[in-house]
Amino acid sequence: MTRAKSPTSDLARLRSLYDQITEEGLCTRPGVDPDHWFPDAEPAGNATTQRRFYEQAATARCAGCKALAACQVTAEVEERADLMLHDCAPHGIRGGLAPWARFERLLASNIAVETDKEEAA
Ligand code: SF4
Repeated sequence: MTRAKSPTSDLARLRSLYDQITEEGLCTRPGVDPDHWFPDAEPAGNATTQRRFYEQAATARCAGCKALAACQVTAEVEERADLMLHDCAPHGIRGGLAPWARFERLLASNIAVETDKEEAA
């Protein structure tokens, strides 16, 4: 299967996404405490109720944000690099998603990339 080139490989496009987040992100508005997007405790893997509350908080924090799509793309780009280069998993709320939800997306997209490589070989 052939995939289109990722738009995030275009540095100018990536910069424009960051600009959009700076200008339109709810979490970047003056007077907003960014710590609200980084709750102190992320629940353990089996804490179903805590995870559900966290996910609801993530949805609520980012609800209506005009930069949500840009935020999800930049989060994926950054967190993929952090994971590959530093073995550092996502943390905090970004793009309306809890860190484990973004981590699962990264894993799923890596599987898709690996499958494409195998098919091309
Ligand atoms: S989607 Fe959420 S984390 Fe991303 S810029 Fe908007 S408010 Fe901030």
